[in-house]
This record gives sequence, C-alpha cells and structure tokens, in this order.
Amino acid sequence: MARKPGSGAAKSIISPFHGKHDHAHCQRQALDSAIQQCEKRGLRLTKTRQQVLEIIWASHNPIGAYDVLQKLQAQGHKPAPPTAYRALEFLVDAQLIHRIESLNAFIGCPSPADSHQCQFYICKDCGHIAEVNSNAVARALSADADQLGFTSQQPVIEVHGLCRDCSQA
Ligand SMILES: [Zn+2]
Ligand SMILES: [Zn+2]
Ligand SMILES: [Zn+2]
Repeated sequence: MARKPGSGAAKSIISPFHGKHDHAHCQRQALDSAIQQCEKRGLRLTKTRQQVLEIIWASHNPIGAYDVLQKLQAQGHKPAPPTAYRALEFLVDAQLIHRIESLNAFIGCPSPADSHQCQFYICKDCGHIAEVNSNAVARALSADADQLGFTSQQPVIEVHGLCRDCSQA
C-alpha cells in the first residue's frame, strides 16, 4: 500500500545538475544516512551491502547490476553473482537506492528517510540523475488514482532530457 503523500508544499531537490560540487560530501552523507536508517529499522547493512552502496554512490550516474559486480570483483571481492544481486535487492527494498526502470540501472537515494514518491530527471548526455520528491505531483497522481478507483503502488516518474550544462554545451 502506497503511503499517502504529505499535505505540505515542501519539495526537496537534491540536484547534481548545478555545476561542480563536493561529491565526497554526498557519498559520506549517503553512507551515514544509510547506516542510520538501517539501525532505526533493524536492518543489517552487511559488508557486501555497504560495498555495493559505495559503488553506486561513486557518482550521480546510474549503474547496471553487471557493472556493480565487475567493480566488486575489481576491489578484490569475489562474491557469487547472486550475493551481489541480493545486496542490490536489499538496498532497493530499503529504499537506499532506486532502480531506474527505463535504464535498468541503479542510483543512490539522497533522502532515504523521506516519503518515497519520487520523480527522476535523467540527463541523456551526461547521464546524471536528480531525484525530486514533489508533494504536488504525488497529490495529483493520488487524486487521479482515486477517481479511477485505482490503488497505485509507489508511482515513479522518469523524465528524460538535458540538464542545464548539457543543453548549453
Ligand atoms: Zn554528489
Ligand atoms: Zn529516494
Ligand atoms: Zn547533463
């Protein structure tokens, strides 16, 4: 059952599109909040899960399951492929990462503590993805679903296009 969207107008935008930024900070913050969330919810962030999370947070670009496995192996780990894929599944279920369906790839979630009706803005040039949690969009979708008598599950919107830097280039 999808969580009802909040009533506030608040919208969080954590954008990798606004030029250069301290990405090490993003990575640290993502790891810290993942550890916090797991403690709070009684989930176990095993070493493999943490390594997979770190690989995914290497950038704001999505990464496929096979590439995650390759990177794990390059780091000297030889987990059986199912172990790596299960780690990905765990991270998706815990909403620490998201699967971008249209790309069949994964991206780190910058706000795992918040409600998870998210919209993804995907730059087709640089590949960066920004996650937005807009209450207005969530409310509009929920109202339409109500009218249809439809029970929606975590509706996800993936918007493809060009970020500012790439459209100016
Ligand atoms: Zn970053
Ligand atoms: Zn998210
Ligand atoms: Zn771009």
